[in-house]
Amino acid sequence: MARSCAFCNRSSMKAARRSHSNIKVLRRQYVNLQKKWIDEKSLLICTRCIKTTKKKAAVAVKASKTKVGL
Ligand SMILES: [Zn+2]
Repeated sequence: MARSCAFCNRSSMKAARRSHSNIKVLRRQYVNLQKKWIDEKSLLICTRCIKTTKKKAAVAVKASKTKVGL
């Protein structure tokens, strides 16, 4: 089983390295996965999802502040 993100299920992709003479060498392009503790479980989550969840939290805080203000 490939290492993949617990949230978005992204995993490694196929990519190619090209030399100056245009010879193609296939290689793997990995997702930037980081270990995170969520609900006392260690999960592998990509940095894109970590950033998005932080953003959503920030948006929620902002929304709650506006509700208090109203
Ligand atoms: Zn992800």
